[in-house]
Amino acid sequence: MPKDSFDREIDYLRISVTDRCNLRCVYCMPLEGLRFLPGPEMLNAAEIEQVVRAAVAVGFRKFRLTGGEPTLRADLLEIVERIAAVPGVRDLALTTNAILMTRLARPLRDAGLGRINVHLDSLNPKTVEQQMRWGRFEEIWRGIMACEQAGLTPIKLNAVVAAGYNEGEVADLARLTIERDWHVRFIELMPLGGGECARLSIQRYVSNIETRRRIERELGPLAPIEAGNPSDEARNYQFAGARGVVGFISPVSEPYCGTCNRMRLTADGKFHLCLLNDNELYVRGALRSGADLEAVGRILLRAVGEKPTGHHLLQGRSTRERSMYQLGG
Ligand code: SAM
Repeated sequence: MPKDSFDREIDYLRISVTDRCNLRCVYCMPLEGLRFLPGPEMLNAAEIEQVVRAAVAVGFRKFRLTGGEPTLRADLLEIVERIAAVPGVRDLALTTNAILMTRLARPLRDAGLGRINVHLDSLNPKTVEQQMRWGRFEEIWRGIMACEQAGLTPIKLNAVVAAGYNEGEVADLARLTIERDWHVRFIELMPLGGGECARLSIQRYVSNIETRRRIERELGPLAPIEAGNPSDEARNYQFAGARGVVGFISPVSEPYCGTCNRMRLTADGKFHLCLLNDNELYVRGALRSGADLEAVGRILLRAVGEKPTGHHLLQGRSTRERSMYQLGG
């Protein structure tokens, strides 16, 4: 397994397949002024497969497709099929807002997808409209149900908590874990890209310490669960007798850079070395000039070797070049 210069084992590649999205969450995408990648600049399915083959050859085992909204990619099924067929791929997951999953859940499962994470910030249709803007609760909920029926489990819901939007509704989401074997995870806002969404992410930030307090005030104590996977970014808890898990992803109040096992590939073919730094290594050029798997693997190993120690959010520094929708979380 490849190790970076801080002795972290890096075996997880998150692949952004598009920067387009069918939502405009207030902290992620502005309503105006967006410029999306032209098609030819994005890696095609065969190029993505080649990176995955090279990654497996150097020891990567876990893969996740993200975006933008990955289900907007017309060839998503082909991408999943190609990756799932690579020997050595142990885990293939997708991060989605689930809106298109009513028709895609089953075909994606059949193509070889293992699991999904769904982004849903509230169970209140009004709050969803305000916070996720183009999102409709019923559509997302139907998508989640389709994922569950298709066996894309365990269902993991991700909710980003924002002051003045959904902060007062976190207990309703956490309550889902009492009856269902789902993971409901609360994510702290991070400022990326330096624009209006970064500013909002700072202004509306709610610490997970506060979120957990609110949940426990309404629903009773949460007991910690033994960490199964040390590089799991969530700290996991359970209510007594509950079927599911409540997780807290706290990059700001409790950074987990020390156990980071992640590398990212952008839709335009760059290895992005750390979510919250701008460092990147270009791989598309190599892919398009006939590089073999070994050469692509060497670029990836260089990217691993150059991974920064961690983020500098508390010193007021984050990405300037990339926003979250261009990286995928
Ligand atoms: N479209 C997919 C989705 O909705 O999950 C995948 C991409 S989206 C960028 C991945 C995750 O990043 C979502 O859970 C989203 O809420 C989260 N996210 C976006 N901007 C964020 C920010 N500023 N801080 C924390 N999380 C953010």
